Amino acid sequence: MVEAGLCGRSCLSCPLHGPLCSGCDNRGCLVLACFKGKRYTGINAAGCIYTSVCPRKVDARSVKLDIPLPTAKARQRLKKTPRFIPIIKAGDRRSWFWRWVAEPRTVIVKLHDLMVSPELSAQAEAEGLRGYLNLDGQTIVSTVMPDEAMARLSLEDYQRYLKSLEPDAFFNPDSETYIDDPRLYSWRSLLRSLKMTSELAKLDAELIGLIKGANREQVRYCVKTLSQLSVTKYALPSRELWRDGLFKEFLAYALEALEDYVGGRYQLIIYGRPYTWATEYPHASLSWFINAQKRACYQGTQPIIHYILDDHLYCDECPCNCPACQEIKEEQVTYIRVNNVKAIALHNLTYLQALHSEGGTRKLGFR
Ligand SMILES: [Zn+2]
Ligand SMILES: [Zn+2]
Repeated sequence: MVEAGLCGRSCLSCPLHGPLCSGCDNRGCLVLACFKGKRYTGINAAGCIYTSVCPRKVDARSVKLDIPLPTAKARQRLKKTPRFIPIIKAGDRRSWFWRWVAEPRTVIVKLHDLMVSPELSAQAEAEGLRGYLNLDGQTIVSTVMPDEAMARLSLEDYQRYLKSLEPDAFFNPDSETYIDDPRLYSWRSLLRSLKMTSELAKLDAELIGLIKGANREQVRYCVKTLSQLSVTKYALPSRELWRDGLFKEFLAYALEALEDYVGGRYQLIIYGRPYTWATEYPHASLSWFINAQKRACYQGTQPIIHYILDDHLYCDECPCNCPACQEIKEEQVTYIRVNNVKAIALHNLTYLQALHSEGGTRKLGFR
Protein backbone atom coordinates (compact mmCIF):
# COMPACT_ATOMS: atom_id res chain seq x y z
CA MET A 1 0.00 0.00 0.00
CA VAL A 2 1.28 3.45 -0.84
CA GLU A 3 1.04 6.13 1.82
CA ALA A 4 -0.33 8.77 -0.47
CA GLY A 5 -1.28 8.75 -4.14
CA LEU A 6 -0.46 11.45 -6.64
CA CYS A 7 -3.77 13.01 -5.66
CA GLY A 8 -2.12 14.03 -2.39
CA ARG A 9 -4.67 12.20 -0.28
CA SER A 10 -3.48 9.82 2.38
CA CYS A 11 -4.44 6.35 1.20
CA LEU A 12 -5.09 5.30 4.81
CA SER A 13 -8.04 7.63 5.20
CA CYS A 14 -9.26 7.51 1.62
CA PRO A 15 -12.68 5.95 0.97
CA LEU A 16 -11.56 4.78 -2.45
CA HIS A 17 -8.60 2.84 -1.24
CA GLY A 18 -8.97 -0.92 -1.35
CA PRO A 19 -11.38 -2.39 -3.84
CA LEU A 20 -11.74 0.80 -5.89
CA CYS A 21 -8.27 2.32 -6.02
CA SER A 22 -4.79 1.03 -5.39
CA GLY A 23 -3.28 4.48 -4.93
CA CYS A 24 -3.80 7.27 -7.41
CA ASP A 25 -1.35 7.35 -10.31
CA ASN A 26 -3.27 9.80 -12.48
CA ARG A 27 -0.50 12.00 -13.91
CA GLY A 28 -2.96 13.69 -16.23
CA CYS A 29 -5.20 14.86 -13.39
CA LEU A 30 -6.12 18.53 -13.58
CA VAL A 31 -6.17 18.83 -9.77
CA LEU A 32 -2.61 17.50 -9.62
CA ALA A 33 -1.68 20.14 -12.18
CA CYS A 34 -3.40 22.72 -9.98
CA PHE A 35 -1.27 21.62 -6.99
CA LYS A 36 1.77 22.17 -9.14
CA GLY A 37 0.68 25.73 -9.80
CA LYS A 38 -1.04 25.42 -13.19
CA ARG A 39 -4.05 27.66 -13.50
CA TYR A 40 -7.13 26.99 -15.61
CA THR A 41 -10.28 29.03 -16.03
CA GLY A 42 -13.17 27.34 -14.33
CA ILE A 43 -10.96 25.03 -12.33
CA ASN A 44 -8.93 27.16 -9.97
CA ALA A 45 -11.51 29.90 -9.61
CA ALA A 46 -13.98 30.14 -6.72
CA GLY A 47 -16.51 28.05 -8.64
CA CYS A 48 -14.08 25.22 -9.34
CA ILE A 49 -15.97 22.10 -10.42
CA TYR A 50 -13.59 19.93 -8.38
CA THR A 51 -14.09 21.62 -4.98
CA SER A 52 -16.12 18.70 -3.66
CA VAL A 53 -13.36 16.17 -4.43
CA CYS A 54 -10.25 18.30 -3.84
CA PRO A 55 -7.89 16.71 -1.29
CA ARG A 56 -7.03 20.22 -0.06
CA LYS A 57 -10.63 21.19 0.54
CA VAL A 58 -12.35 18.01 1.64
CA ASP A 59 -11.55 15.53 4.37
CA ALA A 60 -11.62 12.11 2.72
CA ARG A 61 -13.43 10.55 5.67
CA SER A 62 -16.47 12.73 5.01
CA VAL A 63 -16.78 11.49 1.41
CA LYS A 64 -19.71 9.12 1.02
CA LEU A 65 -19.70 6.63 -1.81
CA ASP A 66 -22.73 4.75 -3.03
CA ILE A 67 -21.57 1.23 -3.60
CA PRO A 68 -24.07 -0.59 -5.82
CA LEU A 69 -25.34 -4.01 -4.83
CA PRO A 70 -26.70 -6.56 -7.29
CA THR A 71 -30.48 -6.59 -6.82
CA ALA A 72 -31.87 -8.29 -9.89
CA LYS A 73 -31.10 -10.43 -12.89
CA ALA A 74 -31.30 -8.60 -16.17
CA ARG A 75 -33.78 -9.95 -18.75
CA GLN A 76 -32.81 -11.42 -22.10
CA ARG A 77 -35.07 -9.80 -24.65
CA LEU A 78 -33.14 -9.04 -27.83
CA LYS A 79 -33.24 -11.75 -30.45
CA LYS A 80 -29.64 -11.48 -31.74
CA THR A 81 -27.60 -8.36 -32.17
CA PRO A 82 -27.34 -7.07 -35.74
CA ARG A 83 -23.83 -6.31 -37.05
CA PHE A 84 -24.75 -2.70 -37.63
CA ILE A 85 -27.41 -1.00 -35.53
CA PRO A 86 -28.51 2.40 -36.81
CA ILE A 87 -29.03 5.14 -34.27
CA ILE A 88 -31.99 7.17 -35.55
CA LYS A 89 -33.38 10.63 -34.82
CA ALA A 90 -36.71 10.25 -33.07
CA GLY A 91 -37.68 13.76 -34.16
CA ASP A 92 -36.55 13.58 -37.79
CA ARG A 93 -38.48 11.28 -40.07
CA ARG A 94 -35.83 11.56 -42.75
CA SER A 95 -33.91 9.02 -40.64
CA TRP A 96 -36.79 6.52 -40.57
CA PHE A 97 -36.28 3.66 -43.03
CA TRP A 98 -37.71 0.69 -41.23
CA ARG A 99 -38.19 -1.37 -44.40
CA TRP A 100 -34.50 -1.16 -45.20
CA VAL A 101 -33.13 -1.85 -41.76
CA ALA A 102 -31.48 -5.28 -41.90
CA GLU A 103 -32.93 -8.19 -39.91
CA PRO A 104 -33.29 -8.59 -37.01
CA ARG A 105 -34.67 -5.08 -37.49
CA THR A 106 -33.34 -3.02 -34.59
CA VAL A 107 -32.93 0.72 -34.05
CA ILE A 108 -31.43 2.82 -31.29
CA VAL A 109 -33.18 5.97 -30.07
CA LYS A 110 -31.33 8.48 -27.92
CA LEU A 111 -33.16 9.35 -24.74
CA HIS A 112 -31.60 12.80 -25.02
CA ASP A 113 -33.50 13.46 -28.29
CA LEU A 114 -36.73 13.00 -26.36
CA MET A 115 -35.58 14.99 -23.33
CA VAL A 116 -34.92 18.12 -25.38
CA SER A 117 -38.39 18.09 -26.92
CA PRO A 118 -41.28 17.90 -24.41
CA GLU A 119 -43.74 17.48 -27.27
CA LEU A 120 -41.87 14.55 -28.78
CA SER A 121 -41.30 12.98 -25.42
CA ALA A 122 -44.99 13.23 -24.47
CA GLN A 123 -46.03 11.57 -27.72
CA ALA A 124 -43.45 8.77 -27.50
CA GLU A 125 -44.29 8.15 -23.85
CA ALA A 126 -48.01 7.97 -24.60
CA GLU A 127 -47.68 5.54 -27.52
CA GLY A 128 -44.60 3.63 -26.44
CA LEU A 129 -41.50 3.83 -28.61
CA ARG A 130 -42.50 1.09 -31.03
CA GLY A 131 -45.97 2.57 -31.49
CA TYR A 132 -44.63 6.08 -31.93
CA LEU A 133 -42.12 4.95 -34.56
CA ASN A 134 -44.62 2.56 -36.13
CA LEU A 135 -41.81 0.04 -36.19
CA ASP A 136 -42.13 -3.70 -36.57
CA GLY A 137 -38.86 -4.48 -34.89
CA GLN A 138 -36.72 -4.06 -31.80
CA THR A 139 -36.04 -0.76 -30.05
CA ILE A 140 -33.10 0.13 -27.85
CA VAL A 141 -32.96 3.31 -25.75
CA SER A 142 -29.51 4.87 -25.54
CA THR A 143 -28.69 6.90 -22.46
CA VAL A 144 -25.46 8.30 -23.89
CA MET A 145 -25.88 12.06 -23.55
CA PRO A 146 -24.06 15.30 -22.71
CA ASP A 147 -22.82 15.61 -19.11
CA GLU A 148 -25.16 18.45 -18.14
CA ALA A 149 -28.14 16.39 -19.28
CA MET A 150 -27.14 13.20 -17.44
CA ALA A 151 -26.57 15.10 -14.18
CA ARG A 152 -30.20 16.24 -14.23
CA LEU A 153 -31.68 12.73 -14.52
CA SER A 154 -32.64 10.89 -11.35
CA LEU A 155 -33.42 7.21 -10.96
CA GLU A 156 -37.14 8.11 -10.98
CA ASP A 157 -36.72 9.93 -14.30
CA TYR A 158 -35.08 6.89 -15.90
CA GLN A 159 -37.75 4.61 -14.48
CA ARG A 160 -40.56 6.80 -15.78
CA TYR A 161 -39.08 7.11 -19.27
CA LEU A 162 -38.31 3.42 -19.61
CA LYS A 163 -41.66 2.25 -18.25
CA SER A 164 -43.60 4.41 -20.68
CA LEU A 165 -41.33 3.99 -23.72
CA GLU A 166 -41.31 0.18 -23.29
CA PRO A 167 -38.16 -0.48 -25.32
CA ASP A 168 -36.89 -4.03 -25.84
CA ALA A 169 -33.56 -2.98 -24.38
CA PHE A 170 -31.87 0.04 -22.85
CA PHE A 171 -28.40 1.17 -21.87
CA ASN A 172 -27.78 1.76 -18.20
CA PRO A 173 -27.22 5.45 -17.23
CA ASP A 174 -24.18 7.16 -18.70
CA SER A 175 -21.51 8.59 -16.40
CA GLU A 176 -18.73 11.18 -16.53
CA THR A 177 -15.44 9.33 -16.64
CA TYR A 178 -12.68 11.51 -18.05
CA ILE A 179 -9.05 10.63 -17.61
CA ASP A 180 -8.06 14.17 -16.59
CA ASP A 181 -10.63 14.39 -13.80
CA PRO A 182 -9.61 13.50 -10.25
CA ARG A 183 -10.40 9.81 -9.81
CA LEU A 184 -12.76 10.50 -6.95
CA TYR A 185 -14.84 12.54 -9.38
CA SER A 186 -15.12 9.79 -12.00
CA TRP A 187 -15.64 7.12 -9.35
CA ARG A 188 -18.51 9.08 -7.87
CA SER A 189 -20.16 9.46 -11.26
CA LEU A 190 -19.62 5.81 -12.18
CA LEU A 191 -20.92 4.55 -8.83
CA ARG A 192 -23.99 6.80 -9.07
CA SER A 193 -24.75 5.29 -12.47
CA LEU A 194 -24.20 1.71 -11.32
CA LYS A 195 -26.33 2.24 -8.23
CA MET A 196 -29.23 3.37 -10.43
CA THR A 197 -28.49 0.49 -12.79
CA SER A 198 -29.04 -2.15 -10.14
CA GLU A 199 -32.58 -0.74 -9.65
CA LEU A 200 -33.22 -0.43 -13.39
CA ALA A 201 -32.29 -4.09 -13.89
CA LYS A 202 -35.69 -4.90 -12.38
CA LEU A 203 -37.48 -3.42 -15.40
CA ASP A 204 -39.00 -5.70 -17.98
CA ALA A 205 -36.49 -4.89 -20.74
CA GLU A 206 -33.00 -6.08 -21.49
CA LEU A 207 -30.21 -4.12 -19.87
CA ILE A 208 -27.24 -3.38 -22.12
CA GLY A 209 -24.17 -2.47 -20.10
CA LEU A 210 -22.35 0.76 -20.96
CA ILE A 211 -18.65 0.21 -20.44
CA LYS A 212 -17.36 3.36 -18.79
CA GLY A 213 -14.26 4.18 -16.81
CA ALA A 214 -11.37 6.62 -16.70
CA ASN A 215 -8.78 3.88 -16.25
CA ARG A 216 -8.40 0.11 -16.24
CA GLU A 217 -9.59 -0.23 -12.63
CA GLN A 218 -12.81 1.64 -13.35
CA VAL A 219 -13.51 -0.27 -16.56
CA ARG A 220 -13.02 -3.54 -14.69
CA TYR A 221 -15.21 -2.46 -11.79
CA CYS A 222 -17.92 -1.33 -14.21
CA VAL A 223 -17.97 -4.64 -16.11
CA LYS A 224 -17.78 -6.67 -12.91
CA THR A 225 -20.78 -4.88 -11.38
CA LEU A 226 -22.82 -5.22 -14.57
CA SER A 227 -21.91 -8.91 -14.85
CA GLN A 228 -23.33 -9.44 -11.35
CA LEU A 229 -26.66 -8.27 -12.79
CA SER A 230 -26.33 -11.02 -15.44
CA VAL A 231 -25.74 -8.52 -18.23
CA THR A 232 -24.40 -10.23 -21.36
CA LYS A 233 -24.57 -7.42 -23.94
CA TYR A 234 -22.28 -4.44 -23.60
CA ALA A 235 -21.65 -1.20 -25.47
CA LEU A 236 -18.37 0.70 -25.55
CA PRO A 237 -18.93 4.40 -26.31
CA SER A 238 -16.04 5.12 -28.64
CA ARG A 239 -16.37 8.63 -30.07
CA GLU A 240 -14.39 10.45 -27.36
CA LEU A 241 -11.90 7.60 -27.00
CA TRP A 242 -11.13 7.82 -30.73
CA ARG A 243 -10.80 11.57 -30.57
CA ASP A 244 -8.29 11.28 -27.70
CA GLY A 245 -6.35 8.38 -29.25
CA LEU A 246 -7.39 6.03 -26.44
CA PHE A 247 -9.72 3.67 -28.25
CA LYS A 248 -7.39 0.69 -28.65
CA GLU A 249 -6.20 0.93 -25.06
CA PHE A 250 -9.72 1.05 -23.61
CA LEU A 251 -11.03 -1.61 -25.99
CA ALA A 252 -8.30 -3.88 -24.59
CA TYR A 253 -9.37 -3.08 -20.99
CA ALA A 254 -12.98 -3.79 -21.91
CA LEU A 255 -12.21 -7.11 -23.62
CA GLU A 256 -10.01 -8.25 -20.75
CA ALA A 257 -12.74 -7.42 -18.20
CA LEU A 258 -15.43 -9.11 -20.32
CA GLU A 259 -13.35 -12.28 -20.59
CA ASP A 260 -12.69 -12.28 -16.84
CA TYR A 261 -16.20 -11.51 -15.58
CA VAL A 262 -18.64 -12.53 -18.30
CA GLY A 263 -16.68 -15.22 -20.12
CA GLY A 264 -17.39 -16.34 -23.66
CA ARG A 265 -21.09 -15.38 -23.51
CA TYR A 266 -20.69 -11.64 -23.94
CA GLN A 267 -21.51 -9.49 -26.95
CA LEU A 268 -19.78 -6.16 -27.44
CA ILE A 269 -21.18 -3.28 -29.50
CA ILE A 270 -18.89 -0.43 -30.51
CA TYR A 271 -21.09 2.61 -30.03
CA GLY A 272 -20.80 5.92 -31.83
CA ARG A 273 -18.38 5.26 -34.65
CA PRO A 274 -19.39 3.88 -38.02
CA TYR A 275 -16.40 1.78 -38.98
CA THR A 276 -13.02 0.91 -37.58
CA TRP A 277 -10.33 -1.64 -38.19
CA ALA A 278 -12.35 -3.72 -35.76
CA THR A 279 -15.34 -4.68 -37.89
CA GLU A 280 -15.37 -7.97 -36.00
CA TYR A 281 -17.62 -6.23 -33.45
CA PRO A 282 -21.12 -4.98 -34.12
CA HIS A 283 -21.31 -1.20 -34.48
CA ALA A 284 -23.99 1.33 -33.65
CA SER A 285 -23.88 4.82 -35.06
CA LEU A 286 -25.71 7.87 -36.34
CA SER A 287 -22.91 8.86 -38.75
CA TRP A 288 -24.87 7.56 -41.75
CA PHE A 289 -27.48 10.24 -41.07
CA ILE A 290 -25.17 13.02 -39.88
CA ASN A 291 -23.16 12.59 -43.07
CA ALA A 292 -26.32 12.70 -45.17
CA GLN A 293 -27.22 16.01 -43.53
CA LYS A 294 -23.77 17.25 -44.56
CA ARG A 295 -24.47 16.00 -48.12
CA ALA A 296 -21.79 13.33 -47.80
CA CYS A 297 -22.08 9.73 -48.96
CA TYR A 298 -19.91 6.66 -48.53
CA GLN A 299 -18.29 5.11 -51.60
CA GLY A 300 -15.90 2.24 -52.34
CA THR A 301 -15.09 -1.11 -50.78
CA GLN A 302 -13.61 0.70 -47.76
CA PRO A 303 -15.55 3.80 -46.78
CA ILE A 304 -14.45 6.97 -48.51
CA ILE A 305 -16.58 9.96 -47.65
CA HIS A 306 -17.60 11.73 -50.80
CA TYR A 307 -18.95 15.27 -50.40
CA ILE A 308 -21.62 16.24 -52.86
CA LEU A 309 -20.66 19.80 -53.62
CA ASP A 310 -22.35 20.29 -56.93
CA ASP A 311 -26.10 20.42 -57.03
CA HIS A 312 -26.26 17.91 -59.87
CA LEU A 313 -23.29 15.73 -59.17
CA TYR A 314 -24.15 12.34 -57.82
CA CYS A 315 -24.47 8.75 -58.94
CA ASP A 316 -23.27 9.35 -62.51
CA GLU A 317 -20.38 7.01 -61.97
CA CYS A 318 -21.59 5.39 -58.77
CA PRO A 319 -22.14 1.63 -59.26
CA CYS A 320 -24.30 1.39 -56.13
CA ASN A 321 -27.45 -0.71 -56.36
CA CYS A 322 -28.88 0.27 -52.97
CA PRO A 323 -32.64 1.08 -52.99
CA ALA A 324 -32.01 4.84 -53.15
CA CYS A 325 -29.51 4.70 -56.00
CA GLN A 326 -31.59 2.08 -57.83
CA GLU A 327 -34.71 4.21 -57.77
CA ILE A 328 -32.80 7.09 -59.27
CA LYS A 329 -31.41 4.88 -62.02
CA GLU A 330 -34.85 3.51 -62.80
CA GLU A 331 -36.17 7.01 -63.14
CA GLN A 332 -33.29 7.61 -65.53
CA VAL A 333 -32.14 10.53 -63.52
CA THR A 334 -28.42 10.49 -63.08
CA TYR A 335 -28.24 12.75 -60.09
CA ILE A 336 -29.79 13.27 -56.72
CA ARG A 337 -30.34 16.90 -55.88
CA VAL A 338 -28.26 17.77 -52.86
CA ASN A 339 -31.27 18.67 -50.79
CA ASN A 340 -32.41 15.08 -50.90
CA VAL A 341 -31.08 14.15 -47.48
CA LYS A 342 -33.39 11.19 -47.34
CA ALA A 343 -31.95 9.53 -50.43
CA ILE A 344 -28.37 10.07 -49.28
CA ALA A 345 -29.29 8.77 -45.81
CA LEU A 346 -30.78 5.59 -47.25
CA HIS A 347 -27.69 5.08 -49.39
CA ASN A 348 -25.42 5.57 -46.35
CA LEU A 349 -27.48 3.26 -44.17
CA THR A 350 -27.46 0.49 -46.77
CA TYR A 351 -23.75 1.01 -47.30
CA LEU A 352 -22.84 0.62 -43.60
CA GLN A 353 -25.11 -2.39 -43.22
CA ALA A 354 -23.38 -4.01 -46.19
CA LEU A 355 -19.93 -3.05 -44.89
CA HIS A 356 -20.64 -4.86 -41.63
CA SER A 357 -22.10 -7.94 -43.24
CA GLU A 358 -20.49 -10.87 -44.99
CA GLY A 359 -19.34 -9.98 -48.46
CA GLY A 360 -19.08 -6.30 -47.56
CA THR A 361 -19.95 -3.50 -49.96
CA ARG A 362 -19.07 -5.59 -53.04
CA LYS A 363 -22.63 -6.81 -53.08
CA LEU A 364 -23.75 -3.20 -53.60
CA GLY A 365 -21.58 -3.09 -56.71
CA PHE A 366 -18.48 -1.40 -55.27
CA ARG A 367 -15.04 -2.73 -56.11
ZN1 LIG B 1 -25.24 6.04 -55.93
ZN1 LIG C 1 -26.51 3.71 -52.99
